[in-house]
Amino acid sequence: MLAQVRDTGWTHHVPRLMVLGNWALQHGYDPAAVTDWFHRSFVDGYDWVMVPNVIGMSQYADGGTMTTKPYTCGGAYLNRMSDLCRPCAYRPGDRTGERACPVTTGYWAFVHRHRELLAANHRTARTVGGLDRLDDLPEVLAAEAARGSAAP
Ligand code: SF4
Repeated sequence: MLAQVRDTGWTHHVPRLMVLGNWALQHGYDPAAVTDWFHRSFVDGYDWVMVPNVIGMSQYADGGTMTTKPYTCGGAYLNRMSDLCRPCAYRPGDRTGERACPVTTGYWAFVHRHRELLAANHRTARTVGGLDRLDDLPEVLAAEAARGSAAP
């Protein structure tokens, strides 16, 4: 996907949000830097495209003005919504183990990090309930930290 952006300056709206934006959000990238990257990398990198889509929808960096919840998901959702996971070495539903999906571990680490905010939002409160039912959360967080991609 990054190769497609490099070579063509474009990728579809959904991979922009669900893959590239999702990864940046999960790992706590600076929203201004992410927006700058989108601006410079995409053929449609205009303010009217990037400000609402990256700052608002993708990074939830406008205080929730545009969307009612952060736009993030784990690998299982990506697997349902795309054919990206079929050839992947990771398994979208695995949270731990050698083939644990980094998008899934990143998702749960994100929910854990922002649990207070997400618990107070009626659209994401159930997600926090799901987090509380994970009996392998310590291992998930350790795997995320070991991968070196955990947000501070
Ligand atoms: S299984 Fe692979 S392609 Fe699917 S979300 Fe995880 S890392 Fe991405």
